[in-house]
Amino acid sequence: MKHYSSAHQAIAERVGPDYGPSHWSDWRWHVRHAVRDMETLQKVLNLRFPEREAADLKRTLEKFPLSATPYYLSLIDREDYRNDPVFKQSVPMTGELTTLPYEMDDPLAEESDSPAPGITHRYPDRVLFHVSNVCAMYCRHCTRKRKVGDRDSIPDQAAMEQGLAYIRNTPVVRDVLLSGGDPFLLSDDRLDWLLTELRAIPHVEIVRVGTRTPVVLPYRITPELVAMLSRHHPLWINTHFNHPRELTSPARAALARLADSGIPLGNQSVLLAGVNDCPRIMRELCHRLLQNRVRPYYLYQCDLSEGLSHFRTPVGKGIEIMESMIGHTSGLAVPTYVIDAPHGGGKIPVMPSYLISWSTNKVVLRNYEGVITTYKEPDSYEQYFCDRNCDDCHLQLKLGGSEEREAVGIEKLLADYDETAALTPENNERMDRRAEEPGS
Ligand SMILES: *Cc1c(COP(=O)(O)O)cnc(C)c1O
Repeated sequence: MKHYSSAHQAIAERVGPDYGPSHWSDWRWHVRHAVRDMETLQKVLNLRFPEREAADLKRTLEKFPLSATPYYLSLIDREDYRNDPVFKQSVPMTGELTTLPYEMDDPLAEESDSPAPGITHRYPDRVLFHVSNVCAMYCRHCTRKRKVGDRDSIPDQAAMEQGLAYIRNTPVVRDVLLSGGDPFLLSDDRLDWLLTELRAIPHVEIVRVGTRTPVVLPYRITPELVAMLSRHHPLWINTHFNHPRELTSPARAALARLADSGIPLGNQSVLLAGVNDCPRIMRELCHRLLQNRVRPYYLYQCDLSEGLSHFRTPVGKGIEIMESMIGHTSGLAVPTYVIDAPHGGGKIPVMPSYLISWSTNKVVLRNYEGVITTYKEPDSYEQYFCDRNCDDCHLQLKLGGSEEREAVGIEKLLADYDETAALTPENNERMDRRAEEPGS
């Protein structure tokens, strides 16, 4: 078993005098020795920041704390660390001290959609359940950056119980996403308890876990963890690789273990200036993910959180990347590019436009090569008025227990059985004027 490269060895020895060869693959050793201050960071990476920069970086840490696993730091190319994607994601930059007027500490308004401790209930049928405030590494681009480290803790039993009670008492919730922090920093026993509680709720159809441990702490994916997880199917995992360089052999081994236990794997990347804002890097990343049985799921536009301005790209960069992927490579390799709308609007997919024009009988489309083509609409289509009375419909739903739900949003505008013709935002001046008009 010779996977202790010299970079590992050198870093491990600088991290702690207690280092023994078996420690490197022990995830708890990495958590215990996570690098949390500039002195240790410089020592471990064997580099010195110029004095002025070091002082600025210290100020940055007072605002947004540092924590990085020796494993993740060992991936840094020290010859060119200033441009290194791992360095940029783990080591603070002075740009973090810049706060722009439109940046927010909770851009996604997760707090205002929180009906119970740890729960964000934004979409009709699924909730986010924050079960840990701990991460193995603090990503410099974290959207919940302001909160990380403030409460570097596991929510207490009472808070967890309240979150569970909310889910239990809310039958529309058919999908629970465990998030954090990183849920995999909970102990196996705690996770086992939580998953058992969730599985016991009849309306919870699937449980998903969002974790970055396969990227920053792959040794966390132990045979014991995986054996426990596989007792709670259907369980889905989304991880967070941002650059092909992160798919190291320990990371690939962790992914293989998860996939072998029958857990479908997805990946959510964040588009980051200077890290992966390049069609070739993104395509390479997605190909390597597929090779490791991970389906690229989302590519996020960088949020409007405080101190992230140096990471943000124009949306045009994301569209350019999507243009370079759709049609050019396997559909399975192409994530959905989304902007998580400020103030709680949720994820909005964005992509190049393929529908160029249409008439009553033809649709004009373009493909990835620039071919402009037409699709002939059917000459006759039996328009069926949907009154939502499925029992009288010729289409066979016939699924006992598939419950009815109200049409929402644009779906409602398209529905036959609902007469709503426009959705109008409230509380704007135009609406106020209408209210004032005599006779209205
Ligand atoms: C992202 C997110 C989800 C899950 O969204 P999917 O599109 O189903 O993956 C659920 N709740 C919140 C608050 C989210 O941000």
